Amino acid sequence: MLDGGGQSHKTDVIIIGAGPVGLFAVFELGLLGLSSHVIDILDRPGGQCAELYPEKPILDIPSRLKVTGQELSDDLMAQIEPFTPTFHFQQMAEKIEKMENGHWRLTTDLATIIEAPVIVIAGGGGSFTPKKPKIEGIEAFEGTSVFYSVRKMEQFKDKHVLIAGGGDSALDWTVNLNPIVASMTLVHRRNEFRGMQATVDQMYALKEEGKVNLQIGDIVRLNGDNGQVKSVTMKSKESKEEVEISCDTVLPFYGLTMKLGPIAEWGINLEKNRIPVDTEKFETTEKGIFCIGDMCTYPGKLKLILSGFHESALMAHGCFHYARPDQKLRFEHTTSSSSIQAKLGAS
Ligand SMILES: Cc1cc2nc3c(=O)[nH]c(=O)nc-3n(C[C@H](O)[C@H](O)[C@H](O)COP(=O)(O)OP(=O)(O)OC[C@H]3O[C@@H](n4cnc5c(N)ncnc54)[C@H](O)[C@@H]3O)c2cc1C
Repeated sequence: MLDGGGQSHKTDVIIIGAGPVGLFAVFELGLLGLSSHVIDILDRPGGQCAELYPEKPILDIPSRLKVTGQELSDDLMAQIEPFTPTFHFQQMAEKIEKMENGHWRLTTDLATIIEAPVIVIAGGGGSFTPKKPKIEGIEAFEGTSVFYSVRKMEQFKDKHVLIAGGGDSALDWTVNLNPIVASMTLVHRRNEFRGMQATVDQMYALKEEGKVNLQIGDIVRLNGDNGQVKSVTMKSKESKEEVEISCDTVLPFYGLTMKLGPIAEWGINLEKNRIPVDTEKFETTEKGIFCIGDMCTYPGKLKLILSGFHESALMAHGCFHYARPDQKLRFEHTTSSSSIQAKLGAS
């Protein structure tokens, strides 16, 4: 399901955003026989549910008395599995162009190219973007020896890696990269970690084995030249003294913030960073580009998962004639359609 970018694809619908609404859109499109490719800058599905409140109970999903953000995301993934969507994770939908045949060509920041008659923007509150540490001159090292995400683990093989942060990403990568790096330092400003207890335990076990150099303090300086970090200076919490740590790669994981990102540059009408749509099909001012979920706006819009699910169903019906101009859409209930039941393996 994960890809390294650089390939070309054709599909019926390109969905930007693998949040709950983008995922349910796959289902509604699938019911009408339409295939989809889904792009998300995150490394997993679920959008805000999985990223911001995976363990909190959501209490207003119809017929689900209680479901956590992660459970909802997992269940949506299971529900859409029969439609075999293709996911392009850790990629930013960066550029769109209208083709001569009226279709759209979308390019990601990893040079994946996808062509389709329809684009559905389910970008929610925007793309999750890493928060950058306030360290003077860090920009000079970005992309050469400072990275805010791990896109290919191989890139860090035999490197002297310093990870900064105390949440899930910092801990996950301290543990997961450990077997392939030359050395691993974890710097966190406090002794308490915010990640899953199991991963915190794994990190401490590696520290006991001498495989993680755990330092408590604040990073104050990156030292190096020509984009290459040679060491990091941190201020120790205990001694208040500056300590220099040798490393050639720095991975700061200081959490994520949501930004509208490249979508703002696509010439689509915007209203306070949201995309106005009609409430019949949820189409934008650009023909063949639809918007659903938190990113769309219309009179009375509520930023609820429930609303996004409703928008997905109407959007799918609106998309159909772009993807199948020669066919007539037949409305069917899942309870009585044998073809849908066969697709879902429920006959
Ligand atoms: C703390 C909290 C609690 C909440 N509780 C509830 C609740 O109880 N009930 C309820 O109904 N709602 C709740 N919500 C709101 C709910 O989470 C949102 O309405 C829902 O997540 C919107 O889904 P979405 O799919 O539209 O967008 P999102 O969940 O925001 O997903 C959008 C995805 O698109 C990706 N993306 C955006 N732009 C790009 C791009 N250019 N390239 C690649 N990827 C991109 C983002 O990375 C993201 O993963 C809560 C929200 C928060 C923050």
